[in-house]
Amino acid sequence: MGSVLGSLKDIYAGSASRPTEYVIALMPGDGIGPELTAATLRVLNTVSEKFGIPLKINRVEAGDNAMSKYGEALPDESLKSIKKSHACLKAPVGETSADVIVKLRMMFDLFANIRPVKAYPNTQSLRSDIDMVVVRENTEDLYKGLEFALGNNTTVALRVITYDASIRIADVAFKLALGRKKKVTAVHKSNVLKTTCGLFARCCREVAQKYPNISYEESYVDACAANLVRKPHTFDVIVTTNMFGDILSDEAAQVAGSLGLAPSCNLGYNYAIFEPIHGAAFDIAGKNIANPISMILSAALMFEWLGAKYNDGRCIKASESINSAVYETLKEGKSLTPDLGGVARTDEVALSVVTKLT
Ligand code: ATP
Repeated sequence: MGSVLGSLKDIYAGSASRPTEYVIALMPGDGIGPELTAATLRVLNTVSEKFGIPLKINRVEAGDNAMSKYGEALPDESLKSIKKSHACLKAPVGETSADVIVKLRMMFDLFANIRPVKAYPNTQSLRSDIDMVVVRENTEDLYKGLEFALGNNTTVALRVITYDASIRIADVAFKLALGRKKKVTAVHKSNVLKTTCGLFARCCREVAQKYPNISYEESYVDACAANLVRKPHTFDVIVTTNMFGDILSDEAAQVAGSLGLAPSCNLGYNYAIFEPIHGAAFDIAGKNIANPISMILSAALMFEWLGAKYNDGRCIKASESINSAVYETLKEGKSLTPDLGGVARTDEVALSVVTKLT
């Protein structure tokens, strides 16, 4: 995957001193979550040993299982544990996902959802040269949860788009582009959603003025959806509002090979949560066939962030090592899960990655 978060350092890397051990809140989630978590834990333990990174892994219960056990999707104990950690590595959560991740995003002001999408060998990606990042605003839009029923048969949802949130997410996109192919595509639908998307587009244009070396374009969301299939290699950084980003990043990940390869980072000024972009995939849960790479690459992103935040070369090395072990596993083509056209099991993929960590 290569460095993703490096050019965003001035957003999250303050003067915090390096801890003696990194406390990681590990959330196994629902559906395929526990299988992905077991696979990723093997990778965490191996890099911890290999690179001498002291890790304290605290499991946190959240999601559908927590809801049926405690009556709450995000129990107080879990929240406390997350607050005490240096980072959270999260598996997908099922039906209660809005009560967990959407709440955590708001609570920790994790305003930027960074979703790198890259083509790997042997993955049935549409093209081999796909390499983009979808930057999704993470705190507002229709996901603010302002939905109402007006009587039995009429419902209303409020779409919140603000100047401040739009400016800060656009700035993340331009900063990211500086360290990449230097192109930003702002995606909206301002011809129809004239007020909300109109404001978002205006903010992106305003930020674009500050980055004269970045090529800037705009696209309506429907055209962008088509172009992600037609010419995915032409995108570098896409910046967009919360719901459009949710949808387009799933599409981009599938075009690049599989949802099962796509990691993400929910980034704020002080904290970050790393998770696969996909959901709990109940249709394949418990069968040991889910692709764990999305969560393993999320762990790589987490180490990259820890390394930059605490100026810790060991974490940077761990991140690079995980990224190249994933690349080598896919290039070898022996350990491919069914979503990539193979027959490998989740734990076989984990083993392959672990043996390639150097
Ligand atoms: P959400 O809205 O929470 O993102 P969703 O209902 O859109 O969830 P997902 O759970 O993301 O759906 O899964 C969509 C499909 O993608 C699943 O049915 C599954 O076949 C496939 N899929 C998702 N993740 C993986 C994975 N890690 N490995 C293999 N297949 C996966």
